[in-house]
Amino acid sequence: MKYVDEFRDGELARGLAGAIAREAAPDRTYSFMEFCGGHTHAISRYGVTDLLPPGVKMIHGPGCPVCVLPIGRVDMAIELALEHKVTLCTYADTVRVPASKGLSLLKAKARGADIRMIYSAADALALAQHHPEKQVVFFAIGFETTTPPTAVVLKQAQALGLTNFSVLCCHVLTPSAISAILESPEVRQYGTVPLDGFVGPAHVSMVIGSRPYEFFAQEYRKPVVIAGFEPLDVMQAILMLVRQVNQGRAEVENEFSRAVTRDGNVKAQNLVAEVFELRREFEWRGLRSIPYSALRIREAFAAFDAERRFPIGYHQVPDNKACECGAILRGVKRPWECKIFGTVCTPETPMGSCMVSSEGACAAHYTYGRFKQVA
Ligand code: SF4
Repeated sequence: MKYVDEFRDGELARGLAGAIAREAAPDRTYSFMEFCGGHTHAISRYGVTDLLPPGVKMIHGPGCPVCVLPIGRVDMAIELALEHKVTLCTYADTVRVPASKGLSLLKAKARGADIRMIYSAADALALAQHHPEKQVVFFAIGFETTTPPTAVVLKQAQALGLTNFSVLCCHVLTPSAISAILESPEVRQYGTVPLDGFVGPAHVSMVIGSRPYEFFAQEYRKPVVIAGFEPLDVMQAILMLVRQVNQGRAEVENEFSRAVTRDGNVKAQNLVAEVFELRREFEWRGLRSIPYSALRIREAFAAFDAERRFPIGYHQVPDNKACECGAILRGVKRPWECKIFGTVCTPETPMGSCMVSSEGACAAHYTYGRFKQVA
């Protein structure tokens, strides 16, 4: 398959692994965070860490949309479905995220809530059009990749004059999360998370471009290499990061040049800016509350904002005490360091959000049998 097979070639992977081993200094450690869950999945699935020399370590970041969703936000969606009797539409993985009181959207569905798993925001809008008797709410989650389609349906709903469609907006922003990691005590003060650079997101960067990462390279002196989601993309990015570190450079480089430009998709950015504005505060699972790190619906589209249409509010809820998702999302712990990893908590019975989506670090490690390979 064009643009897939050639990025999974074993011979080329061995060549890249050899180059990384030759160029990585034997007397130092390189610690790189792959921000995105898509990269975490690729690294586990293709055994990328097995090909790296012992001194090159990968740290999983918080870029999995389902993983960073706090319990309180899932509770809001459940409240809409169970108490306000709306038809709640969302992307499939979201329905399995554990919420308060032993519930999840899937368990709420078993109690009679009308919860629909959809493939696109357009499916939710179509449902509202075909069922004017139902109040349809789209539980919108995700980073910059999924935000433009939500903006499109909000504009369409307004143009159609729909009165039975609204959005529970939980879209979050990548650069804010990277800032939160770089400013976290574990990175800045304690040094428990040594960070020499980032593998930058693929799909998110197609929308926002490579320009937003320049701040991190300049202000924090951390190299960023934007990479595609195939194993050779990731390995090439690691080699580029090793080279930057060796040469004392901290720049933004673009390995995924077949899809990412410096300016990104300006049309999508303008659309998002027209429909959404920054939220003052948003709580992320694991990263706590981060100012200006998420989006809310602008006043012009207030009629389609589920948080204004229904009497619901956000309540902070602590994670399950046994779950280490917060520490894993900050790069402080590895999945197998959680006491219930692979025993009580599995993809079939997730106790935390990182075990739900295939992009979650715990699910990726469990699925591909990678329990303790990385020291
Ligand atoms: S194994 Fe389960 S409970 Fe433990 S950190 Fe991962 S998701 Fe949370």
